[in-house]
Amino acid sequence: NDPLFQTSFSLLTQLHRKGFEGHIVGGAVRDLVLGRPVGDIDIATSATPDQVNQVFDQVIPIGVEHGTVLVRYQSQSFEVTTYRTEQGYTDFRHPDQVSFVQSIQDDLSRRDFTINAMAMDANEKIIDPYGGKDDLANGRIRAVGDAQTRFSEDPLRMMRALRFASQLQFEVESEVRTAIEDQAAKLGHIATERVAIEFAKLTAGVNYKEGLQLCSQLGVFSHLPIFSKYHHLQKVVPADRLEGFAVLITYYYEQDNNIDILQWVKSWKQSNKVKRDSFSLAQALREFRKKDEVTHWLVYQLPEHLLISFVQLLRALGYRIEEQCLTNVAAKLPIQSRNDLAFGAKDLIQLFPQKPKGPWIKSGVEKIEYAVVNKQLPNKYEQIKEWVDQWNPPVNN
Ligand code: ATP
Ligand code: MG
Repeated sequence: NDPLFQTSFSLLTQLHRKGFEGHIVGGAVRDLVLGRPVGDIDIATSATPDQVNQVFDQVIPIGVEHGTVLVRYQSQSFEVTTYRTEQGYTDFRHPDQVSFVQSIQDDLSRRDFTINAMAMDANEKIIDPYGGKDDLANGRIRAVGDAQTRFSEDPLRMMRALRFASQLQFEVESEVRTAIEDQAAKLGHIATERVAIEFAKLTAGVNYKEGLQLCSQLGVFSHLPIFSKYHHLQKVVPADRLEGFAVLITYYYEQDNNIDILQWVKSWKQSNKVKRDSFSLAQALREFRKKDEVTHWLVYQLPEHLLISFVQLLRALGYRIEEQCLTNVAAKLPIQSRNDLAFGAKDLIQLFPQKPKGPWIKSGVEKIEYAVVNKQLPNKYEQIKEWVDQWNPPVNN
């Protein structure tokens, strides 16, 4: 009686009336059976994209060559995909050929794991040709068909297996494990962004520790960005998911300096705390990389509760560094926060009464803060005033 399911049943009935079959498929059925919150509802249908277009008023083509359209129906969006199979994955991205097929059974056969290969019709009847329900009940990740074959078709499925294990707290079945061990190297052929999405879901899963452990045991780390570059990381199972996460962010930052880190972190499904903290760690790491040293400014900016995580992160990246080193710097910081500055915004305004208020005040305070923290300037009113007096004009804008 979930309203979203009710709406999709109604959508299925519309298809029916025009003589087409339709089923809810994939993750939605899995999550419904598990009693987990359902994200998107995907529909599979015997209708072609053209035919779907004729049944509904609002249809947006989003991947017609793969048989997928987006249907807006009763103010909700549904991805509706024509029953299909796939052949050949020479570029490891897109199947070389997509063929539309006649039955839901054929469509289910292309899906990755038994728990994702179930379909439900408008009467809530479940079609489950591969024993997905059993595997859900027993908490097992099992491939549809032969795991080795399925992973060589599309290596991303290996990452998916591990992220489902982490998200659902499921056991990865031994055939699947072996196939991952054998074929992990093929992950190198997959577009990094796609691997990263699955890895992010893995690190955000309840069972992320086991997920990461599996990455290590099955040799997956050796073929993941950044982890393959820094071999230490493969041996360190992070005490906290933050480390793995900050490393990934840093990696992306190194690839593309224009990337908006915060935006990027947000797009990963992490809690706000993880977002904030991993952002701080990534920032600290960037500051560190400038000279490969722990500066006063770095320690000043790093929230205290992240000191240990940061040390672990550096160690994981192969730097030999002791926690003591950071706590020593922390103990010698001239100020703990901006509030401790002996010369603040008010004093700046007083010193330059003729200058209209504006962003120069904020950047002026930041300049003072940076100089004081780095001990280029003592935190004394008179000395800061003298220093600021020389600015003239008092900082730009
Ligand atoms: P989530 O809840 O995270 O969205 P999901 O199972 O719905 O999980 P999607 O990526 O949305 O994952 O894919 C929808 C369905 O499409 C899957 O349940 C599965 O049946 C199928 N699928 C997705 N990716 C693959 C793949 N690489 N190989 C085979 N089948 C896949
Ligand atoms: Mg989904």
